[in-house]
Amino acid sequence: MYKYRQFGDKFVLSIDNHQPIAATIAEFCKEKNILGGAVYGIGAVNEVTLRFLDPATLKYVDKTFNEQMEIANLTGNISQKNGQVYLHLHVTLGRRDYTCVGGHLLEAKINGACELVVEHFDGPAPGRYQDSETGLNLYEL
Ligand code: FE
Repeated sequence: MYKYRQFGDKFVLSIDNHQPIAATIAEFCKEKNILGGAVYGIGAVNEVTLRFLDPATLKYVDKTFNEQMEIANLTGNISQKNGQVYLHLHVTLGRRDYTCVGGHLLEAKINGACELVVEHFDGPAPGRYQDSETGLNLYEL
């Protein structure tokens, strides 16, 4: 479902067309035992679900976009929660009219390509804790 090549503590990762990006990054991290790191890259998608957290209500609002868009940027971090890979991904997506939508990425289906760099941090993997004020799962460092 993906191809990769290792360069020191970094991996160049090319995910196959029509695959889900977030699930595939998680699968790759699991295969390589990466529980702490960073991910960034570009690509193209035609189905994306973004999530917005309303800080007033601490409620999530999810929205799915079914259109062809460029991943102008995908940036995220890799940590662990209860020993499992925990991804936090954000994305900026370019539309046909060159405007952008963006936000917290839940999942996206590739339509074209997705080329990423995954960095593996040395040392103990950072964890997560639920912050009562923000409702967010913050880094435990
Ligand atoms: Fe987020």
